Amino acid sequence: MTRATGQLSEPKSMHDRDCLHRFLFEHLPIRGHIVHLDAAWRALLEQRDYPENIRDTLGEAVAASVLLAATLKFDGTLSLQLQGQGPMHLMLAQCSSQFGVRAVARYREVIDSRDISVLSGHGNLSVTLENDDLSQRYQGIVPLSSDRMAQCLQGYFEHSEQLPTRLWLHADEKGVSGLLLQRISEDTATRRGAGHVSSLLDVPPVDIDDAWARVQLLADTLKPEELQRLTDRQILRRLFAEDDVRMFESTPVFFRCRCSRERVSGMLKGLGAAEIRSVLQERGVVEVRCDFCNRAYQFDAVDIEQLFTTGPAGSSPSVH
Ligand SMILES: [Zn+2]
Repeated sequence: MTRATGQLSEPKSMHDRDCLHRFLFEHLPIRGHIVHLDAAWRALLEQRDYPENIRDTLGEAVAASVLLAATLKFDGTLSLQLQGQGPMHLMLAQCSSQFGVRAVARYREVIDSRDISVLSGHGNLSVTLENDDLSQRYQGIVPLSSDRMAQCLQGYFEHSEQLPTRLWLHADEKGVSGLLLQRISEDTATRRGAGHVSSLLDVPPVDIDDAWARVQLLADTLKPEELQRLTDRQILRRLFAEDDVRMFESTPVFFRCRCSRERVSGMLKGLGAAEIRSVLQERGVVEVRCDFCNRAYQFDAVDIEQLFTTGPAGSSPSVH
């Protein structure tokens, strides 16, 4: 653990890329996360040729998925999905509880807009949590109350029973960045460390409201290029120099696809022998390409025969 304020030597720049930093205000029930993805974002974009507005919208969703996943205690995958009838009919960003991310956008036509409502054709934005064996699932619908992802998610936190939360997101071809601030319950805050209890209990509730408003105003002064370019420590110093902010060790975030030959086999089995054999007959080989990582899985006649003689149809209907 290190302090963002005080006499610290400047960290080696760029060493906080492709990771998540958690931080908290020592004397306030407020916590936050900062994420920067550079290499992971470029890996995610490899062999993709998204129009700029779709690329950056997807990048914001990726940053948001990491920030949201970091607020939760769960074991599985968080999906942020936007689906509709618009020019960009599907956008999906996923972050696992181990902070492996992947994402995909599908679009029918290129339009010049960053408005997610316009892009998706007033579609549905949702946050879904699933554990790895898919036995548990929670889904929350996020109203498209604004043209940008960050503001919609803020509305979602405001209107659900969840903790007041603000997000700042930025994406371009080089990287994606995000900052999240969350007001946690005072009970949680006082439990978080014996050494920090007394000072916290001295803060009256009205002052906590003021402090929450103040830290949001400060964060609003952060320019997108600062969020992108500054190190996490510089961001915290730049915004909250007056506060005692504790920054925790970073957690790596990486691009990881969950597709596998086994999962693809399961999906092919699910489609049935007749359909797959007809594809095989037509093309000589069955090829399935993963939407997320673009990896191709090929099955020749021998593979297909093995697939349909080794047991009943698989239970997984999805490549992913
Ligand atoms: Zn894949």
